[in-house]
Amino acid sequence: MTKNAQLATELATDEFSLIAGVQAPEGQGRVAVDAATREPIGRVPQHTVADLEAAIERATAAQPAWEALGHGERSRLLHAAADAIEANSEPLARLLSREQGKPLNGPNARFEVGACATWLRSAADTVLEAETVVDDASGHATLHYRAIGLVGAIGPWNWPLMITIWQIAPSLRMGNSVIVKPSGNTALSVLTMLSILNEVLPADVLIGICGERGVSSTLAAHPAVGKVMFTGSTPTGRKIVESSASNLARLTLELGGNDAGIVLPSADPAAIAEGLFWGAFINTGQTCAALKRLYVHDSLYDAVVDALADVTARMPMGNGLDEQNVLGPLQNKDQFDIVARLVEDARAGGARIVTGGAPASELGELFYPVTLVADVKDGAAIVDEEQFGPTLPIIRYSDLDEAVRNANRLDVGLGASVWGDRDEALAVAGRLQAGTVWINGHGGLHPQIPFGGVKSSGYGLEFGVEGLKHVSVPQVISG
Ligand code: NAD
Repeated sequence: MTKNAQLATELATDEFSLIAGVQAPEGQGRVAVDAATREPIGRVPQHTVADLEAAIERATAAQPAWEALGHGERSRLLHAAADAIEANSEPLARLLSREQGKPLNGPNARFEVGACATWLRSAADTVLEAETVVDDASGHATLHYRAIGLVGAIGPWNWPLMITIWQIAPSLRMGNSVIVKPSGNTALSVLTMLSILNEVLPADVLIGICGERGVSSTLAAHPAVGKVMFTGSTPTGRKIVESSASNLARLTLELGGNDAGIVLPSADPAAIAEGLFWGAFINTGQTCAALKRLYVHDSLYDAVVDALADVTARMPMGNGLDEQNVLGPLQNKDQFDIVARLVEDARAGGARIVTGGAPASELGELFYPVTLVADVKDGAAIVDEEQFGPTLPIIRYSDLDEAVRNANRLDVGLGASVWGDRDEALAVAGRLQAGTVWINGHGGLHPQIPFGGVKSSGYGLEFGVEGLKHVSVPQVISG
């Protein structure tokens, strides 16, 4: 781990000018802080429910002209939006690094900003054709996909820019207008990105609103909202489902996970160790589809634990603006407390703490080192609860059927992975209850490969053609 280097505490000029048009006036709003240093970096506007109502009116009024532009022109504008992100990528990544905590380097802030442009371009280039469903003597029918109208996009704080793009790019592509409600923890970064996108988009088709608690719930339940794209925790997802009873909004719910990985006896510990590490600790473990429970066959258990410990020792943690770091702080105190509690509980239950195990206070208030927890069993809180941070329980198994049963035991099913001989792994993959099963990797996403959860990890798909269908309404023309 590296101590915080002496990094400028003032925002660099380009970051400052980027947030200037977004932040609340001096003395107003909520103070946004740097996750690593806890120093103030800006003022997040606090919109009211009345502000939200006005935004909904504007976005609703702007939508028909946006839809009427047609696919070609909307695609062109989404590419222009991607250009605008790329033109501002470095200050945006620095702002994200400060507010969210993730380092510039590694699969973190620069990677996230790059993915925003990639996903925008992919949505721009994806075509959702009308389908002919019957065309014979019995009749003729085609299935078309139309804009829904207004989409509400509600997001979390872990990948705030990328997930916002996942929600808005397909929605805009299909001719919807969008109101974005970012997590308060990372609202400054999201509002700043929206202001960059709005340099090229027509007025009012994309509006960001953040503020008091009632703003989120009012958006989800609003009669003008035809679709809610929600990414966040399972308890909040359930509330969104309840809200949809009033407006019958269509929902895409990307909720919490507790992804299992199974290492087969045929795996090579040294070859998979780095893949396992980033599968678990991308974004310092604050990732929905991260590896959160690792089941390792008895025959190579010690070798895998040792190989993971070796990789851990090579990965520097510290202030995200320091170019050498690839691991950062937890984004907020609540999440830090969850990780600390789960590790303490595991230790008290007799688990072996292989690395880490106590806060890295020398780095700052919210730093917790990568903590590998060995000799732990199903039923322990650190296995059964989503840690959403830099700790990984490693569970020994000797019977594959039992490992599969345990992997499927929890009521979540976002991702899973199997490591080892490809054919053997493929045979296990089909038995796992998860929206995506990766072979010899974990969490890799592609803008054309559908992504979504099963069980309490939610429903609906994002990305590619399937993603466009989920932000459209079907219309059949028959006759
Ligand atoms: P959260 O559920 O606390 O908050 C998510 C968003 O919902 C925030 O913007 C919040 O303001 C808003 N919200 C809160 N109450 C609401 C209500 N009653 N109605 C409408 N909106 C409301 O989640 P979080 O702590 O920001 O994110 C962490 C969780 O998100 C983890 O469980 C993680 O696994 C999950 N997550 C899932 C995915 C995925 O793709 N499946 C991706 C990222 C994060």
